[in-house]
Amino acid sequence: MIECKNVSKIYPGDVPALENISFKINDKEFLSIIGSSGAGKSTLIKLLHAEEKPTSGEILFGGEDIVEYKKKQIFQHRREVGVVFQDFKLLPKKNVFENVAFAMEVSGRSEEEVAEDVPQVLEIIGLTELADKYPHEISGGEQQRVAIARALVNRPKVLIADEPTGNLDPESGWEILQSLLKINKYGTTVVLATHDREAVDKINGRVVVLKDGKIVSDEIKGKYDLKEDKVKKEEKEDRQRRTDSENQKKKSI
Ligand code: ADP
Repeated sequence: MIECKNVSKIYPGDVPALENISFKINDKEFLSIIGSSGAGKSTLIKLLHAEEKPTSGEILFGGEDIVEYKKKQIFQHRREVGVVFQDFKLLPKKNVFENVAFAMEVSGRSEEEVAEDVPQVLEIIGLTELADKYPHEISGGEQQRVAIARALVNRPKVLIADEPTGNLDPESGWEILQSLLKINKYGTTVVLATHDREAVDKINGRVVVLKDGKIVSDEIKGKYDLKEDKVKKEEKEDRQRRTDSENQKKKSI
């Protein structure tokens, strides 16, 4: 379980990116974090991945505060938390299999392990047929799936995806979401950070809404609501009611 307790991050120049955030991520959960650009999503991911330290607060992983971690523990932590970024940067001269295998090799895993695990992960993500292709030979969505396979192959407990559908057409984006849902079904905790409302609407899960560095809602549902959206909806309904009643009046005159 991951727990953020009163976490704030103020960047130099007094820029508050996160203000007093507290929430828990349960084991094996699929959590979407949604918010518009500048809401603090990337900052939160950097904190969870121990790339940045919060200005104040605690971030507990299995009860340990990662803020206190030394270099070696941070290295270990990053194996347990895989991150997939929007710009996935595959190695252009390696094919799909080799790109995924490389992630294992740099973690010091043996050839036998690579030979066993890479095909398994490619199968789960639906990339078996593309194993011999080079990044320039496959679509953006397929490249993103390779990036997911690469993050998954070292068996992290948590997989964080930062705007994974950001650069993709809706169909490829949906395939990415399905891959993430499948990974989650296999037992990996998944955190999806996105500004893509439509993507989140398709997932029936827990949605944390970030706005200006604060959590403004945390609910389990298929669709998320921003307060402004609710207000806009109510205003629209109100306008409609007034138009209807004016039309009614005109008719009766
Ligand atoms: P999001 O990922 O939701 O777009 P970010 O976490 O990138 O949001 O940014 C949150 C706020 O923190 C923004 O106001 C942004 O300009 C600021 N910010 C992010 N990174 C830095 C940084 N390295 N230095 C200064 N300000 C930053």
